[in-house]
Amino acid sequence: MKPIPAFNLTDQYPTIAAAANAAVLEVLASGAYIGGPAVAQFEAQFAIAMGSPHCVACNSGTDALYLALRALKIGPGDEVITTPFSFIATAETIAAVGATPVFVEVDPATYNLDLTAVEKAITPQTRAIVPVHLFGQPVDMERLMAIAQAQHLWVIEDCAQATGAQWGDRPVGSWGHLGCFSFYPTKNLGACGDGGAITTADETLAADLRMLREHGMRQRYYHETVGINSRLDAVQAVLLAVKLPHLPEWNQRRTAIADHYHQGLAHLEGDDFALPRAIAGGTSVWNQYTIRVGDGTGPAPRDRLRETLQERGIGTAVYYPLPLHLQEAFRGLDYRPGHLPIAERLAHQVLSLPMFPELTEGDRDRVIATVTDCLSALRQTA
Ligand SMILES: *Cc1c(COP(=O)(O)O)cnc(C)c1O
Repeated sequence: MKPIPAFNLTDQYPTIAAAANAAVLEVLASGAYIGGPAVAQFEAQFAIAMGSPHCVACNSGTDALYLALRALKIGPGDEVITTPFSFIATAETIAAVGATPVFVEVDPATYNLDLTAVEKAITPQTRAIVPVHLFGQPVDMERLMAIAQAQHLWVIEDCAQATGAQWGDRPVGSWGHLGCFSFYPTKNLGACGDGGAITTADETLAADLRMLREHGMRQRYYHETVGINSRLDAVQAVLLAVKLPHLPEWNQRRTAIADHYHQGLAHLEGDDFALPRAIAGGTSVWNQYTIRVGDGTGPAPRDRLRETLQERGIGTAVYYPLPLHLQEAFRGLDYRPGHLPIAERLAHQVLSLPMFPELTEGDRDRVIATVTDCLSALRQTA
């Protein structure tokens, strides 16, 4: 039987090939490779889809976060509260602007920031909060914005894994002062290369973001600050414009897959096996379907399940095996094992099952049957 990969980027292409090819060929013939109407059109289209008045496209989700922090003039001496259970870019960019990432505990059911812990971590040095809508599951943005507003803090949403997700009736990225998106190919809206965007309701911030992504320049060759070069290529912009109208349907398919997994696997839940839960008030877009295996004292049960699934042709992934506060890169921040036990336990337990919109019903059934088999075998040897 054909193996089922954790994700697949080739099955989608044929469904959009005619439009995508035509759009790319048009750019190739136009000579407008950097900036130009294609990028402006995509920015306008994405702003509308994400419920934000402004969108500034850039080269990656990482640059989106970096530019957002720079636009808010966050730097040395400032503290930024964020999650230890995310991709490195979330915290790397805070360090890159010279500020200090302050990691707080996460909620084991949603994998997202524990907002009570966020509140407790606020000091006079705190300038901003960077929530991550991890695996497509939105953070409770109503509560987070109330906390931030009471303390006059900025909120930069890391929406990299949650394009199209909603808290309440509004898309993520439209709640905070700035919303940062990634178009990395495996994200819900993926380019055919790197890409990113920032959304905001604030016209001045949008203008500053454009200035910063363009070498700190508003007027050509006059540079008011040290910026960077971070542009979305025209080729990527037209590909994203072709793909964006399909996003709701692709996200619905991810949701159907998550429902299917839930129905098929719920009977296995116990002390050593838990499924992700969609929380009330939010609409997840299931960038990942991430289960928890073992009691979290070590990675052995998860790794054993992962190996046996691999042997039987089911690909999985571990996001993330080491929380950010324990990364070598942040050794200087003086966190130790035991400081954030829930995040550390999750790092030993999490396992993401195959998840991409084109995953067939037959393949989902195979994933469910194989997980059921392999978990039973694991339980017998435990
Ligand atoms: C992918 C990702 C990023 C970075 O996006 P790139 O486009 O790869 O630079 C940032 N934060 C999170 C949570 C991500 O998953």
